[in-house]
Amino acid sequence: MVNRLARNRRSAAIGWCLGVVLLALASPLSAEIVADIVARCPTSPRSLSEVMAALDRLQTTGRCTLTLLGNTPQKRPLVLAEVTDPQSPYRKATLFIIARQHGNEPAGTEAALALLEHFATAPTTLEKEILKFLRLVAVPVANPDGTAVGRRANANGVDLNRDWAALSQPETRMIDAAVRRVQPDAILDLHELPANSAKDSYGENFLETVGSSAALPALLSQRTKQITKALTAWLRTFGYNHNVYYDYPGDNLMLCHRYFGLYQQYPTFLCEAKTGPGRPLRTRVGFHVVSALVVANYLMHEGAVSGLAASQPTAAAPKVAAASPDAAPQPPTPAPEPAQVQVTLDPAEGGRKQEARLRVQVRGGEGFSYVELSVGGKTRALSNLRDNLWPLNLGSLPPGTYQVRVTAYAEGETEMARGEITVKVTEQSVLAAF
Ligand SMILES: [Zn+2]
Repeated sequence: MVNRLARNRRSAAIGWCLGVVLLALASPLSAEIVADIVARCPTSPRSLSEVMAALDRLQTTGRCTLTLLGNTPQKRPLVLAEVTDPQSPYRKATLFIIARQHGNEPAGTEAALALLEHFATAPTTLEKEILKFLRLVAVPVANPDGTAVGRRANANGVDLNRDWAALSQPETRMIDAAVRRVQPDAILDLHELPANSAKDSYGENFLETVGSSAALPALLSQRTKQITKALTAWLRTFGYNHNVYYDYPGDNLMLCHRYFGLYQQYPTFLCEAKTGPGRPLRTRVGFHVVSALVVANYLMHEGAVSGLAASQPTAAAPKVAAASPDAAPQPPTPAPEPAQVQVTLDPAEGGRKQEARLRVQVRGGEGFSYVELSVGGKTRALSNLRDNLWPLNLGSLPPGTYQVRVTAYAEGETEMARGEITVKVTEQSVLAAF
């Protein structure tokens, strides 16, 4: 796996040199592109036959190809769609999107369709330039039989996103084979979260991916760390609350993102869009779309010749509108309070082992972007919320004393402030040590 990542980098160098000027101008991360893609999504989800018809139409653009991966248990087609510029001489970054393993979670399908449609049909030069460097591959409906009847499991009653260690189902086997053939630079697995859930970690949009570990290729850890930081910062720019949780070797591989991340060792991201009041379909689709564009942007630019860094989130930060000439004079803005990070264990007297929660509050400072949380020197989570209750499974740690450190960053990854707490994990509980 290390070799594959390294080989991709080497072969990239020659092609990229020629295209570097074009590439430098080709970023899909603009408010206009995001708005255009999200506007392609209907206000309510399309039926399976409407989705298949929309995919068929894309083939006529000349930029989209469909491949039949095989048939589901109820003989429905499992389709792979690909949008790129087949004439481009440059090495392309390949993003592989898996959507709707759970048939009752339509946002992933709509996001994948909107992305494919935008890049296959957008008439502007920018999208055409982007496709010279990007190969967008998607399974827009990973569970057609479940989708047809709006249920989570496939026709055999199996939850596909618990089947990756076993690969017992035709759908998971076909997608696994497709990923091995395509050899993408990164994988996104798109899901939706229930509006009401007892699980703390299900309270907000979140993403789960591979953490940095000596047991994994350094390039894999490095890419997932950089991409998750970019995602957390960009999602804040686009108004999405967002947490990141990291997985480590030893975690159960039955989930798709862990199978492809920890086992197959691709940079893989589970994207969970929260449902509920105030989060209509287009809002959830926007979360997936921004996530896909951030990863695509990173892959396109990170693979380029050295010195051309991935664009920074601040580049597209919304501009402050100039005051109109007749606007009333504004009082001078007071200097911001210096940034401060407060970390407490919730409840204050210590929690039961599996329920340890940390309250993190970032006060003051300007241009807050995200916080990074590490336990015993190991990064466990990111969040773009100033005030957050972290559902950390400290109970998975062996008994001992751990330093918990929370670092707040401003836009552009400048460190703002740090907070620390020492916690004592015993067989029965997690206690804050004073
Ligand atoms: Zn799901």
